[in-house]
Amino acid sequence: MSLVTLDQVEGQLARGFGLLRFSPELERLFLKDYAAERARLVAIWCVMGLLIYDLVYFGDHDMVPDVLTELIVVRFLIFTPFVIACIFIVRRWPNAVLYDALTVTAAVLSTTLPMIPAIKSGSQYLFVYQTYNSAAFLFFVVSLRPRFRAVLMGLALTCASHFTTTYLTGAFDQISYFGIITVYSMLSIFLAVSAYFLEKSDRKNFLNQLRANLLYRQLEHRADHDELTGLLNRRSLTRVADELWSNAAKDVPVSAILLDIDHFKRFNDTQGHIAGDACIRAVSECIRNTVGETLFVFRFGGEEILVLGVGQEPIQALAIAERIRAAVEGLRIQNYDSDNRWVTVSAGVASALPAETTVEKLLQAADGALYEAKRLGRNTFAVASLVEVRAFVAG
Ligand code: GH3
Ligand code: MG
Ligand code: MG
Repeated sequence: MSLVTLDQVEGQLARGFGLLRFSPELERLFLKDYAAERARLVAIWCVMGLLIYDLVYFGDHDMVPDVLTELIVVRFLIFTPFVIACIFIVRRWPNAVLYDALTVTAAVLSTTLPMIPAIKSGSQYLFVYQTYNSAAFLFFVVSLRPRFRAVLMGLALTCASHFTTTYLTGAFDQISYFGIITVYSMLSIFLAVSAYFLEKSDRKNFLNQLRANLLYRQLEHRADHDELTGLLNRRSLTRVADELWSNAAKDVPVSAILLDIDHFKRFNDTQGHIAGDACIRAVSECIRNTVGETLFVFRFGGEEILVLGVGQEPIQALAIAERIRAAVEGLRIQNYDSDNRWVTVSAGVASALPAETTVEKLLQAADGALYEAKRLGRNTFAVASLVEVRAFVAG
């Protein structure tokens, strides 16, 4: 889902975001989420807003018949196509800056366009348009919900336009005109403060949601992975085996390579448990890096590691076991008291068709082969015979 970490999200929550800005990575994610959410709702809000806006035609018809033609042009031939284009643009290119710019433009146009013909009108009902425009202010901030900065810009521009066009109508005496300015200024301040807190709570919800998702993923990861090595744990073996067995084709073999560090008791005895843990970690990492991404690697027991995979012919599984053996030896981790000086592993390899065996039987066979590798002198591998792994044939 994301490239951010739980620490980054919790750090941002602790630092706060009074200036409505996150650290760059989080900000990018937030803007993506914001743009997607607005793109999801833009059609509903715009169609609803447009419907109400165009229904005002009936008010125009009764109250300002002297400029009705111009009003029809601005409502139906300019503003309506503009809003329809906005819906397509926002859905096609969801982008925070683009969305904000379009909402500011829509707010300015929605209030300014009908006021331009009104300047020429001699109607005594022009005061009604004051109410219409306050609805447009509310719709811009509460329904379209652009970011705070866009709200500030939109409110400043619409106020400037509204005050100018209202003045030019000449329909209001000085006291009424200043009353209009006072009401719109107060409305704008109230809306701007609301927009600030709305965005702040949007941002907080976003961070909390992200935190919950990351925590859930961390829990899922911990349930399936071993803490010391980061490998899959034994608990997840049943799930992975079920998946492998149910998805594998009938004629593609499954292979198990069971590995055990040689003379590890002596390693612990001579170098201590902490160094022993570090050794298990280093060997695990080496095995993980050697087998590649397509195979599953489990910490099977204390210093036993299991590699499980589909698609390896027995000869390929043997080659992987040998690659691992050589790679671990190549780590050159000292194990003085052992016969061969370096930390090494022994491996037991078993392969079979999934239809002919079970995971338990396959592991049993790999364990038998591992025992054989130890008997052969360690730092080597042995392969289980086919009979050992054929559960259903051999019973
Ligand atoms: P062999 O070559 O036959 O495998 O000899 P070995 O000494 O390695 O014998 P074995 O595999 O039975 O010994 C496993 C030892 O691994 C026993 C235990 O002390 C140690 N061990 C198991 N888990 C851990 C662990 O998490 N950390 C450390 N430091 N040691 C562990
Ligand atoms: Mg062991
Ligand atoms: Mg051992």
